[in-house]
Amino acid sequence: MNMKAIGAAIALAMTSAPAMAQQQFVSIGTGGVTGVYYPTGGAICRMMAKTRSEHGIRCAVESTGGSVYNVNAVRSGELEFGVAQSDVQFKAVHGEGSLAEQGPNPDLRSVFSIHPEPFTVVARADAGITNFEDLKGKRVNVGNPGSGQRDTMEVLMGALGWTMDDFSLVSELQAAEQSQALCDNNIDAMVYTVGHPSGSIQEATTACDSVLVNVSGPTVDQLVAEHPYYRLATIPGGMYRGTDSDVQTFGVGATLVTSASVPDDVVYALVKAVFSDLDQFRGLHPAFANLDPKEMANDGLSAPLHPGAEKYFREAGLIE
Ligand code: GLU
Repeated sequence: MNMKAIGAAIALAMTSAPAMAQQQFVSIGTGGVTGVYYPTGGAICRMMAKTRSEHGIRCAVESTGGSVYNVNAVRSGELEFGVAQSDVQFKAVHGEGSLAEQGPNPDLRSVFSIHPEPFTVVARADAGITNFEDLKGKRVNVGNPGSGQRDTMEVLMGALGWTMDDFSLVSELQAAEQSQALCDNNIDAMVYTVGHPSGSIQEATTACDSVLVNVSGPTVDQLVAEHPYYRLATIPGGMYRGTDSDVQTFGVGATLVTSASVPDDVVYALVKAVFSDLDQFRGLHPAFANLDPKEMANDGLSAPLHPGAEKYFREAGLIE
């Protein structure tokens, strides 16, 4: 480099340094790429990109192992935001169940809730499985550790008095791998706590003959009665090939969480970007079709609201 070029490089460095210092980055932890969390993170970042001239924040999406991974990564500061099931959020706040080892997390903050997530069981059509109880003795993908479905599955198995030994084969494949494993006949059934329609369930029901399985009965009713974050849920018939009748199950809700250490103006900018054009946001994924702003600001949020979210919701009249 000659002297002139060095001078130019220094001048460039001097002018761009303050701009660099102002640039803020946030990452949102999601789930497998064929789930709904990953496109949800993409939709949030897209809304933020649209309003970047107002806040200067760059938003990125990470595919992760799912809810449990995300709340732990938000806790450690590795991620600013994470999508997490409402039950996982509750357990992270209180240090319960699969999150007991970490202890309660007083710094977890909720941002808003998103789409409903029924616990979804898909079985090969030739496996003779119509109800969850029929999974006994079968080859089942119970979900990767760190995923929300693994958590839901363990709770349900515990309530039924089942252990992993009740299956003839147990796999822990990632969400994005299980549809192919089902269609390759490596497993009889897969479980996924996920919004609908989802790419993964579409893949499993179109690449081979498979059916959605009912998860209902007294044990499920009792789980719903005992836990504030569970609800009975219906997956409408006709949504997926091979399943024409409604499927009964139970479920949770997807939520966005962050940490108390993430600045108020960052959370405010994210919430404002999504809520000030909720119609556009709703159009970014079919699982968002029924999103209601009041419900998003109030339902399924067991961690305290982050002050940045609270500020926007007050201004918009979405909370009292
Ligand atoms: N509910 C799943 C989990 O918590 C993820 C679902 C999705 O990626 O849409 O891990």
